Amino acid sequence: MPKDGGSRYDILFEPVRIGPKVARNRFYQVPHCNGGGYRDPSAVAEMRRVKAEGGWGVVFTEQTEIHPSSEITPFIEQHLWEDRDIPALAAMAEAMKSHGALAGIQLAYSGINGPNLYSREVPLAVTGGPILTFTADPVQARTMDLEDIRDLRRWFRNAVRRSQAAGFDLVCFYGAHGFGILQHFLSRATNHRTDAYGGSLENRSRFLREIVEEAREETKGEMAISLRMSLDEGGAFGFSNAELRDFVAMHGELPDIWDLAHGTWEECSGTSRFKDEAAQEDLVTGMKALTSKPVVGVGRFTSPDTMVRMVRQGVLDFIGAARPSIADPFLPAKIEQGRSEDIRECIGCNICVSGDMTGGISRCTQNTAFMEEWRKGWHPERVRPKGASETVLVVGAGPAGLEAALQAARRGYRVTLAEATRDLGGRVTAERALPGLSAWGRVADYRTGQLAPLPNVEIYRDSPLTADDVLAMGADHVAIATGARWRRDAVARHHLHPIPTDPAMPLYTPDDLMAGDGPAGGRVVLYDDDHFYMGSVLAEWLAARGCTVEFVTPAAKVAEWTDNTLEQGIIMRRLVGLGVRFHLSKAPAAIGAGAVRLACTWGGAETEIAADAVLLVTSRLPQDGLWQALSARRADWAEAGIARIEAIGDAAAPGPIAWATYAGRRFAEEIDTPPRSNDTPAFRREIAALEPGPSLLP
Ligand code: ADP
Ligand code: SF4
Repeated sequence: MPKDGGSRYDILFEPVRIGPKVARNRFYQVPHCNGGGYRDPSAVAEMRRVKAEGGWGVVFTEQTEIHPSSEITPFIEQHLWEDRDIPALAAMAEAMKSHGALAGIQLAYSGINGPNLYSREVPLAVTGGPILTFTADPVQARTMDLEDIRDLRRWFRNAVRRSQAAGFDLVCFYGAHGFGILQHFLSRATNHRTDAYGGSLENRSRFLREIVEEAREETKGEMAISLRMSLDEGGAFGFSNAELRDFVAMHGELPDIWDLAHGTWEECSGTSRFKDEAAQEDLVTGMKALTSKPVVGVGRFTSPDTMVRMVRQGVLDFIGAARPSIADPFLPAKIEQGRSEDIRECIGCNICVSGDMTGGISRCTQNTAFMEEWRKGWHPERVRPKGASETVLVVGAGPAGLEAALQAARRGYRVTLAEATRDLGGRVTAERALPGLSAWGRVADYRTGQLAPLPNVEIYRDSPLTADDVLAMGADHVAIATGARWRRDAVARHHLHPIPTDPAMPLYTPDDLMAGDGPAGGRVVLYDDDHFYMGSVLAEWLAARGCTVEFVTPAAKVAEWTDNTLEQGIIMRRLVGLGVRFHLSKAPAAIGAGAVRLACTWGGAETEIAADAVLLVTSRLPQDGLWQALSARRADWAEAGIARIEAIGDAAAPGPIAWATYAGRRFAEEIDTPPRSNDTPAFRREIAALEPGPSLLP
């Protein structure tokens, strides 16, 4: 019997039938990208294996492209184009099933969404037109004719056959987020056809019906079939929630499970700044009445009580999760074991999404092991045992210091954590108080909660350490995680040197505002050369205090990096609604006593805006005085008994919070590891096998 009355969660652990298969519980890891895809097959497989180990009943791949005539380079997903692609996916299916989960594969054909930058094939769409994706590629798709549609049905059938050969239990046809051709057929926005595949809802459903029936035939009914549909596409002609309901009523028994997700990816994977847990509840409520098949839905679920409510109230049969399963692959196991307080809750920052958007590899602010399971052998719950050293000192209790202390303590070292202020959390203590960022506090809360019961950890608050203190303490390993401060001189990307500034102009940085100091009204020039979230968050902060905000940025777009966290459009809508005024492609040339002189980044034409204050959101400087002092005394380390001192996180190089938690983990993991050369990568990777055979040149 689980402690803390965990039995009220028993309903989450009931087995549920999905067509010919039975899921061991209601935890369903919906398909999610990870930036690794076909480039990093073993890293992705190991990541999925860990989810199965953590108790998920169903584990899915990311989007798997079924044919080279539709691919979404530069985004790196999976390929199932030919039999030679089977082994990598078979390894993933095997990893998923290794702990009793059902293995699912999501098949995608991107149609109007795939520019084919790699395959160079002419894109095929339900109705031709410019490719609709994030990057406005100057490419159009041609309209499929009936022969193309027959080809596409066969390609889906081939992909289903290969999926079965690879050992998957479920196949999911992707028609959500505007990304899959099934949605393009269903939606009047993207289907302008006048033949048997266009017009009435029945006609627009035809293709979907055909591929599901053909998949059943191909697999002899042995694979479960899921349809992943958009809950509401939005827009005047979009596939609306009402039309989806008509569609489900019409075809309720067609798939073995309905997987329902909000319309655009931006809406579906909204950050915590803009979307609460269970944000899609209204859109999905009532769907179950239209079908006898189970329904799965998402909503950044991290609260077991909300999950139970979803099932008890008949909203969902399965708790779908992408980000919560990334932040804590062991979420189901922890609930089952009555350890809900150990859940590492997703903070809804979408740094994971940015890994896919940038073609990097995804990382997670909360789960530092994400996508390092195979590359580095890191596990979200386990660490390698302690080595020969005994003691670790961590200076600074921000995200980097807290993670370093926690992981070092888990390894078994005696850890001292010293923090200059009363609060543990560093930057997140301040940032969690900003508009929309309260969930970010979970970075500190999870770690302080986990550190508290550990007998081998001593935490000292109000303890600013000096170099003498550190040397006197003489720990075997020392992490300097003292963070960073925002600059006050406009230096970042556009200005690489300070600009002329009249000291009569009140000048603020984000640190000032977070410390409670800042303009209480009037006209404020906010100069954003950071381009991530902070500028727009503080624009909201200032607007709430009655300031008129003049948002100045050298970029052509406000908060342009937030395209990678799917927030840019939502931020823009928010700021426009608040009456913020924009000065794009401009930067301050000089800050005067009552005005700021702006220069256009294209040619330098100058304008002036009157201002009562200026807020500089530019870049940060490492707060590394302690590290510099210790570095200068390297000769004293050995005598003090210190083997290693390292500046980590923002104290080494400022970055997003996820970079800091990663640095903390890395510091702890590398204690007592055998010395290795830094001439080669610090992680495992796969290198493409060369294709034998002669040149094809004539
Ligand atoms: P990071 O994101 O790298 O973890 P933060 O800025 O969030 O960095 O956290 C740095 C923490 O280090 C802050 O809580 C700060 O108060 C603390 N700190 C800075 N200098 C010292 C010092 N000399 N001794 C102890 N703590 C310090
Ligand atoms: Fe959640 Fe952020 Fe981790 Fe993504 S990166 S899973 S949004 S905590």
